[in-house]
Order: sequence, then structure tokens, then C-alpha cells
Amino acid sequence: MKPEEQKARYFTKELVAWHKTVNDRSLPWKNEKDPYRIWLSEILLQQTRALQGLPYYLRFTEDYPNVKKLAQANEEEVYRLWQGLGYYNRCKNLLATAKYISDELNGVFPDTYEGLLLLKGIGPYTAAAIASFAYGSPHAVTDGNVYRVLARYLGIETPYDTTEGKKLFAQNADRLLNKKDSGSYNQAIMDLGATVCTPANPKCPECPVSKYCVALHEGLTELLPVRSKKTTVKNRYFHYLLLHTGDKLWIHKRTGKGIWENLYEPLLIENSEKLNAKALLVHPEFAALRTVALPEYKGTVKQRLTHQLIETHFFSIRYENELDIASKDGKWVKITALKKYAFPKTVLSFLENNFYF
Ligand code: SF4
Repeated sequence: MKPEEQKARYFTKELVAWHKTVNDRSLPWKNEKDPYRIWLSEILLQQTRALQGLPYYLRFTEDYPNVKKLAQANEEEVYRLWQGLGYYNRCKNLLATAKYISDELNGVFPDTYEGLLLLKGIGPYTAAAIASFAYGSPHAVTDGNVYRVLARYLGIETPYDTTEGKKLFAQNADRLLNKKDSGSYNQAIMDLGATVCTPANPKCPECPVSKYCVALHEGLTELLPVRSKKTTVKNRYFHYLLLHTGDKLWIHKRTGKGIWENLYEPLLIENSEKLNAKALLVHPEFAALRTVALPEYKGTVKQRLTHQLIETHFFSIRYENELDIASKDGKWVKITALKKYAFPKTVLSFLENNFYF
């Protein structure tokens, strides 16, 4: 047997053995065979740490125990349940796919990798996860944890985010996959990346595949995996005007393809730089409010998204009567009813910290 093949076999065998004897990472979606629950967990956990996603998974499975229930759900309720998790496009796709499976596929998930890939919001990673966990199909998952383990074990220096790198990693992931027990293998490699082969300070003495690990033996653990693109971060400055009258606050639903689609927010003025209350008064969008009262500054919240740093400043204005906000499709909502609406995390944390809820 060639040394490369021996290393691959060793990896696969030791990894699955470790998973079955030592790996005790216990999460409710592990060993799950129901494609609906696997799909839900995978969508909820994209860009989200497992412990952060856990309460969301429990709430979703309790409120919507199957795909038909989710398809029939009130959309506002689902967005409210998703609140705080971010990347709201996932929620939109989740609802669209639930409706499609319920209406067009009679509530039955496709049972092939190719069929799963046709669903909205399901890419190669999620399709491989569902296909292997639910149906035992021989498809290897490739996410950040897997790239890290493979790059280190095999000593791959090609950036994983290039076309060449993606192809190379996919080939190696398939080569190492235990095709007879793909579900256990996929779970094992993801858990190894999450708990042992971590980005910083990997626990190599505890690692079941350390014997042939190139990165460990050549001192490359801190240098692998390699990423080519640097994330460019755009600074944005939001100014939320909290318009009050009596016991009501004006809010509207965000539309369009930008961030936070379908979530609610107060009146927003975005500017290329930070504005104070006096500068807001002369901003063209402020003219629609037909007020000369100086907005009262209430606080600032900063939020980092993958490609954006959003600095949000909150201002309050009180009116005698309900104002008709020209060109804005919003409504006046009783403050006691605000908790029925889904807000972006920034707005939610401001409202919570300022006792609106
Ligand atoms: S030996 Fe260390 S670097 Fe290599 S795969 Fe295991 S944890 Fe990762």
C-alpha cells in the first residue's frame, strides 16, 4: 500500500474510532436521522456557534416539530423566533423551502444529495450533511472545521477559498471519507475540528490522528489552513429616530435585498459619517418629519457583521399626534405590543436596555 493511502486509511479508521469511544460532544441534533431536524440544525448553525444555536434549535423543534408545521407558521412568528441569530436571509430561505417541501413534495424531503441541492438555501455542505446523516449517502461535508483538519493533517498549503483549493479539498474530503459510515465520519471530523483541532492552540496530544499529522510534525499548525482573501469591512452609520406619540412608537418593516430584510425598525437615516442631533436637523430625510424639535440623543450600539461594522445612534422625538410619515410604509405601535415584532439585534438590544419591553 502506498504511504498516502496508508495515511488516509489510518485517518479514517482512527477518526471514527475516536468518535465512537472518546468524543462526547453531546448536542441534541447529533445522531438525528430525521432530515427535517438535521436541516433545521444545519441552517440554524451556519455562521453560528453550537451553544448559541442550541436554544434556537430547541424552540424551533418545539414550536414546529415537522416541516408541514413550519410551512403553515405565521411568518412574523418565525422571524421573531429567529431574532438575535442574524443572517436573516437564512430565515427567509428556511420558510420558502419549508413551503416548497410541504406543498410540492407532500412534506417529504428529497433523499438524494442532488435532490437536496435543488432546494433554496441548501448548498453542498448542507446537502452532504443531510444526505449522510439521514440516509447514509457517501458525501463528505466540507466546512471551516473540515478545511482546518484536512489542511493540517495532509499539510495542504493551497488556500481553501480559491477555485483550485475548493477542488483540492473536496477531492481529499472524498478520498478520506468512510463511505460505509459517512454519517459518523462527517460528525467525527466536524467535532474534531470544533473541539480538538481548534483554530488556536489545537490539542494535538489528545488528537486521534496525530501520528501522521503533517502540520504537527513540521511545526505548521499555526500556519494552516491558508486563506487567500482578506475580509474587507465597510463602516456604516445608522441613525434611528424613535418617533413617539402617547404610548406608541413608529416602526416599519425593512424590505429589499439588504441586511435585515423583513425585520422591523424605527425610522432610519443612514449617512456616510456619524451625525449629531444638530446635523440630523438639516439632513434632507429629516425634512419629511416636519419638525424643528431637536432630536434627543439616547445612545449608541455597535454591531459587527461579516463584512460590515455598523455604528448605530439612537435619537428620540416626541409628537403631539400620530404623524403621517411620507414615503414610508410604517405604523404606530403601542409600546406594550412591540415584543410581538422581530427586530435586528442592534434595535432589540437598545429597546431591551431602555425598558421598552
Ligand atoms: S495533530 Fe494537532 S494539528 Fe494535527 S489534526 Fe490533530 S489536532 Fe490538528
